[in-house]
Amino acid sequence: MNIDTKCVQSGYRPGNGEPRQLPIYQSTTWKYSTSEEMGKLFDLEASGYFYTRLQNPTNDGAASKLCEMEGGVAAMLTSSGQAANFYAVFNICECGDHFISSSSIYGGTYNLFGVSMKKMGIECTFVDQDLPLEELQKYIRPNTKCIFGETITNPTCTVLDFDKFAKLAHNNGIPLIVDNTFATPINCRPIEHGVDIVTHSTTKYIDGHASSVGGAIIDSGNFDWMASADKFPGLTTPDESYHGLTYATAFGKGAYITKATAQLMRDFGSIQAPQNAYYVQIGLESLSARMERHCRNAKKVAEFLANNDKIAWVHYSDLEGDKYHDLQLKYLPKGSCGVMCFGIKGGREQSIRFMDSLKLISIVTHVADAKTCLLHPASHTHRQLTDDQLREAGVAPDLIRLSIGLEDADDLIEDIKQALDKI
Ligand SMILES: *Cc1c(COP(=O)(O)O)cnc(C)c1O
Repeated sequence: MNIDTKCVQSGYRPGNGEPRQLPIYQSTTWKYSTSEEMGKLFDLEASGYFYTRLQNPTNDGAASKLCEMEGGVAAMLTSSGQAANFYAVFNICECGDHFISSSSIYGGTYNLFGVSMKKMGIECTFVDQDLPLEELQKYIRPNTKCIFGETITNPTCTVLDFDKFAKLAHNNGIPLIVDNTFATPINCRPIEHGVDIVTHSTTKYIDGHASSVGGAIIDSGNFDWMASADKFPGLTTPDESYHGLTYATAFGKGAYITKATAQLMRDFGSIQAPQNAYYVQIGLESLSARMERHCRNAKKVAEFLANNDKIAWVHYSDLEGDKYHDLQLKYLPKGSCGVMCFGIKGGREQSIRFMDSLKLISIVTHVADAKTCLLHPASHTHRQLTDDQLREAGVAPDLIRLSIGLEDADDLIEDIKQALDKI
């Protein structure tokens, strides 16, 4: 199946006489007749449902659709994108370990890696993702356990060079984890470019309507944990908290997601509510149709901005001449996403006047849903970062992040025009 068909048809497949749409299993637990049956489930010797914190059929149904769309072998949903990125890294890094992340990432992830995980004894080095491979190699240490980046970065709209990062990771026997939230599997499937583990904030385009917070992790099954066994004891040595089971040998390609479910979900409990998983399922079905419109609208608006003399600069990789245009054509030939960023001449004061004059486009902390919205990271999402950290993350103080929705592009341009007239 092509990706547009997978969107609609993959995942949950009802049998004869079963519900057409994935049912919402609003149940915490499942009933069994004998204690032996229940015991086998706890030993991971039989598969079946017993408690929603560990697995729920609605969550599994939605996760399996996303898994097929990304081309993975196993997937899980989490309560948020934050939980997904935390689990993705914490599933392989422990106290005393180190990992590398692109510095141009979502502000929340930057804090998670740089502040909260540091308190857990896990150190992250943030790197400029545009450095050549030889320079990036210098940041690798004996205890470096993974590399992290975003396909299209939030909010700076840069494109990750997958070939370079996959080489960096695999030359050093460690996996590459990529947050594919902005591109979605419609526009980019990182696993096809050597990425080992993909994460999502399903809160964005996948849900698509600003209705529910959620996250997901998809494993390609391609990383050979046993080949670097000494680096990943959590996967390659017996887990005493799970009956002495060794994930990599007991579950093969399913090892990573099984460990994340059996250990991390068991202990941290960041499950996605089945009701929200249902929204993920519904959102995925129309994702391809929506992404096409988001991209078409965004290109029209970006072209308008790029040709307006009140605008200082525009970053949108679909624009010819954009610094990341070539990488985008290579990895996201169908288009990047509906998000772009730009700066207004006259700096902060004029930017605020412009934003406050908009009538249709609203100021919200969200991004990537049906309604066009914008935000000024320096005074909103990234306000906890110092100016130096802002610059390090590539966020200019005048940067406005614009997320183009599903309206008529001409109406959006009209609104932008009248607001620009006020400055
Ligand atoms: C929003 C976002 C997150 C965090 O996701 P939540 O669902 O808000 O927890 C992570 N990564 C990216 C790229 C995001 O845009």
